[in-house]
Amino acid sequence: MQVAHRAHVIDMLDGPALERLIATERPDLVVPEIEAIHTPTLVELERRDGLRVVPTARAARLTMDREGIRRLAAETLGLPTSPYRFVDDEQAFREAVAALGLPCVVKPVMSSSGKGQSVVRCAADVAAAWRYAQEGGRAGRGRVIVEGFVEFDYEITLLTVRHVGGTSFCPPVGHLQVDGDYRESWQPQPMAPGAWEKACAMAAAVTEALGGRGLFGVEFFVRGEEVWFSEVSPRPHDTGLVTLISQELSEFALHARAILGLPVPELGERGPAASVALLARGQGVPRFSGLDKALVEPGTALRLFGKPRVEGQRRVGVALARDVSVEAARAKARRVAEAVRIDLDPLPERG
Ligand code: AMP
Repeated sequence: MQVAHRAHVIDMLDGPALERLIATERPDLVVPEIEAIHTPTLVELERRDGLRVVPTARAARLTMDREGIRRLAAETLGLPTSPYRFVDDEQAFREAVAALGLPCVVKPVMSSSGKGQSVVRCAADVAAAWRYAQEGGRAGRGRVIVEGFVEFDYEITLLTVRHVGGTSFCPPVGHLQVDGDYRESWQPQPMAPGAWEKACAMAAAVTEALGGRGLFGVEFFVRGEEVWFSEVSPRPHDTGLVTLISQELSEFALHARAILGLPVPELGERGPAASVALLARGQGVPRFSGLDKALVEPGTALRLFGKPRVEGQRRVGVALARDVSVEAARAKARRVAEAVRIDLDPLPERG
């Protein structure tokens, strides 16, 4: 909204409101930036009016909630995933936990950034996990996925670009999640060659099934040579923010090139790099200081997202660093993040 020629504020889960907006703006392209959009409307407008949705309306629809994409990956494509069940009420939830065994992971089907997500480690956690999942779903109460816990060595995002010249893969992005929310990422994550080949084959299969052109963030869990598909975003991924410093063409530039039918030549890596999310907690309007100290080292950068307000916990920026190794880059990115001070000014009165 800070750079757009025009902006509108609507509830994107409201189908008729979304349709009115598209009728008003008559866009050449719709590029969804989050999952929580009334995607059945996009599917209908694509079919009826030839609306161009990136990568496709069906991809937006299937990845809108965890169920569409999980069933496509596990049941249609036969990719290895954690064992799972979808449930709608507490009784079915208890049965699913019993069937999958402990520990298991509970997530609302429509949520991201760890909202409503928890790990059930013992019988005493079950009731709280159900309540939390019911409160944390983006579209309110409802359906939940229960997954068997995967004891992985590390997890990656494989940024996969479907472009005019074919399909390309960025070097693997490793990441650290806390309570289902991204905190740090780095590139390249070292991988066993067998694991890398499996991940690329699975990413090619799932992005081919979703179709269209654009960049996808395909998430995997890895243990040794074993690889499990976790989920996919048909758009740039938060863990891929590291590419703002690690690649000549960031994930955003790659998405734009792919969408516009422009060439995606060699990806032009710049060496080991890392990102650390800047988190604000509390209530108010973020104000940043300490940037002079944060940026003294060579090979560092900051992106502040310009978010107008924080209520609870919110990512408000990202610290970026490059160095001779992933370890050195991670340590440097943490130094950048620690030097930034975030204060919250009182919220203006709502008009
Ligand atoms: P998601 O929103 O599905 O990407 O989950 C967020 C994070 O929670 C993942 O990146 C993992 O760190 C962790 N997680 C999710 N599902 C599982 C699972 N089945 N087993 C182990 N860890 C998981």
